[in-house]
Parts: sequence; structure tokens; C-alpha cells
Amino acid sequence: PTTNTALMARRQAAVPRGVGQAHPVFIARGANAEIWDVEGRRYIDFAGGIAVLNTGHCHPAVIDAVREQLELYTHTCFQVVAYEPYVELAERLNALAPGQAPKKTLFLTTGAEAVENAVKIARSYTRRGGIIAFTGGYHGRTLMTLGLTGKVAPYKSGFGPFPAEVFHAAFPNPLHGVSVEDALASVRTILKNDIEPDRVAAFIVEPVQGEGGFYVAPPEFIAGLKAIADEHGILLIADEVQTGAGRTGTWYACEQWPVAPDLITTAKSLAGGFPLSAVTGRADVMDAPGPGGLGGTYAGSPIACAAALAVLKAFEDQKLLERSRTMGQRLVKGLKEIAAGEPAIGDVRGLGAMVAIELFEGGDPHRPAADLTRRVVAEAAARGLILLSCGSYGNVVRILVPLTASDALLDEGLAIIADSFAALR
Ligand code: PMP
Repeated sequence: PTTNTALMARRQAAVPRGVGQAHPVFIARGANAEIWDVEGRRYIDFAGGIAVLNTGHCHPAVIDAVREQLELYTHTCFQVVAYEPYVELAERLNALAPGQAPKKTLFLTTGAEAVENAVKIARSYTRRGGIIAFTGGYHGRTLMTLGLTGKVAPYKSGFGPFPAEVFHAAFPNPLHGVSVEDALASVRTILKNDIEPDRVAAFIVEPVQGEGGFYVAPPEFIAGLKAIADEHGILLIADEVQTGAGRTGTWYACEQWPVAPDLITTAKSLAGGFPLSAVTGRADVMDAPGPGGLGGTYAGSPIACAAALAVLKAFEDQKLLERSRTMGQRLVKGLKEIAAGEPAIGDVRGLGAMVAIELFEGGDPHRPAADLTRRVVAEAAARGLILLSCGSYGNVVRILVPLTASDALLDEGLAIIADSFAALR
């Protein structure tokens, strides 16, 4: 019989080491918020394929929609012969995006591609080149998106040079000594010292930094950033690749902002486990690039569009936005109970069901506990719970469990987290 060890050996020989792997486990089957490995071992999945499985592994309605689509056609390339699911999904996402202006949507395949295209569209509309991103931000692994990403190791190491005219301002992070005013001041400093405001096309910001550590952008920061943007004709791009598709309690996290962004990128959970990404935004901005300027062979695959329409229906049928909020409350409460007896847990935070704990040596926020974080994640896996870490210092444990998971499963996962801390004490 196949074992994880045997597959790991083959993987190491056949796949480059640059492709990381959080757990030495190979899946055989997944259902909702549980997976079974090739040795028959069960795991609770609190990682959701990095925020891709808000509707769980193999949601029956998503699988049915994909199966139905497979019987009809699987590919034409939308730019050659078009199909209704692409248009219908665009209409649905346009209606969900905040702001009074009419919207349009472009589909692609990966999150990085969505961000690349948002930058292209913003440059085309403004006829400017500069982009200001934020420290600790993550936007993908292509060269432009790596340029935007605000953390060197391991993402950018050895891969430069990156595209010019990208600047990084400070992301507000009071826990680590950066106030909203500090962050806005750093934006103004870039506009004074590095690039004229009238050469900046856009700010790109995550409503909650994902890979960077689950830090929520405060509403007053977004309001301040938008005021600077409006003063200089700069666009605001919300990168919702990780926060979008209902993770934070609203379909888009930016629905909770005091102002609407001009462009929104989504991917990950949008199509419930199938590769699909989108740029949704103001129609006048989206229409800036000329005919033939946007697209891609697989962009907006009919299989993925059918899956995404089923995801939207599942959100309605199962009231998953409401569930995202109650799930977040239950997770935060459970984690706070664990934190009460565990000094290393220095912060419990989140927006909706995008929840994390941050670990410090002896609770001192100047001493991020990356090693303990690694050990907690490994200990939990040994006890049957798949967790993921994140954060600029590698000291954050994040939870991205399917919104379709039951309270009983959440509690089972929380108990494993508590036991893992206890075992390491
Ligand atoms: N933006 C954000 C905010 C992300 O979290 C990610 C993926 N972690 C990306 C972009 C890149 O998406 P992908 O890996 O699908 O290219």
C-alpha cells in the first residue's frame, strides 16, 4: 500500500525543493472540512487549501454543476466563442461589488493574474505607471506581483529585478508599533520623496493582510488612503484574493470599508476549488484597455464559471455569510479561552471567519515565536488537525476552515489546538 513516506521520497526526487509543503501528508479524499490521507488517516482541515474551500471540499452542488458543464463543453476560449456562464457570473459579481458606479468583471485563472490585470487596467485608465503597495502585503509569485509583495524571504529571494515604479508604504499595525497616522504619513512621504502623485496609478491594499499575518486594515486607514487617492486622481485596488468570497462575513471584505475601491481582485474560494480569478470594478475604469488588450486562453474557464455560480447559490441556500460571522465569533471565543491559559498567545484577532492567533516568547510582542508556531502546527497535525502559519515573522497561526463546517467540528479542532499547546508546554 502507498504511504506518505514513500510519496514524500518520490516527491523530493521529482519536484523542486522550492515548492514548499506545510505537512508531509498526501490526500486520498476530501469531504467538506475533513480529509483522509493515503494511509486512511483522518484530518480536520482548518487550512481550506489556503482560503480556497469556503464551501468545503467537493461541495455536492459545486460538483453537480461541474459535472453538468463537463457533459456540454469544457473549453472554447471566451475570446473565440463565448458562453453564458461567464457573462452570468460577471453580472452576479458586478451586482455584489460595493459603490454606486456601474461595474464590469474580467475573469482570469489565478490570483496573481487578477492582480497583474488590475495593475494593467489601472495604468491604462490613468495613463500613469506608479503603484504603491504595503509592507507585509502579498500579491502573488509572478514578477509584477512579487514586485508588489512586501516581504523578501522566501518569495522574492533571488528572483529580481522586479518591475520599476513600485513603492511600499507602511501597513498600519498597532500591535507592532505602526499607527494609522504612521502608515498614512509613509504614503505621503513616498509621494514627496519617491514619485510625483500625478505619476501614481493606484494604491493596492489587502483588507486583511493574508500571508502577511491576518492584520486587519482599520477603517480610518482606508478612509485616509482614499482621501489621498481622491486628492491626486489615484485609484484604489482592493486585493481580495484571500479575503473575498465570504471569508470575512461579507462577500467582499471591502463592503465593510467606509469607501468603495475602484477595482477588486478575487480568486481562491470564488469557484469552490476550481481555478478562477476575477477583476471587478468601475465600468469606466474596466473599459480603459482597448479591444484585445485583456484575456487569456483559459481565462474564465466554463468549468470554473459553472462552479462559481454554484458557490454563489450555496452561499444563499446555506446562509454562509451569516455563518462566516457566527463561525468567526465561535473561533475567537474558543481561541481566547485557550489564550487565557497560554502566555505565548499574545493576540487573537480576525474579521468574520478569517481568524488568527499570534505567538510571542513569554507574551513579549518584541519576540515573535516562530519556532513555537512551527511546533504547534506540527503537533496539531500529529493530532489530526491541518493548520497553516503565516506572518512576516512566521509567528501567526491562521484559520481558514470551510464555512460549511459544523460547530462540532470547529470545537473538535479547537480542542486539538488546546491539546497541542498543552503538549508543548
Ligand atoms: N493576493 C493575495 C491577497 C493572496 O493571498 C494570494 C495567494 N495567497 C494572491 C494574491 C496570489 O494568488 P494565486 O496564488 O492564486 O496566484
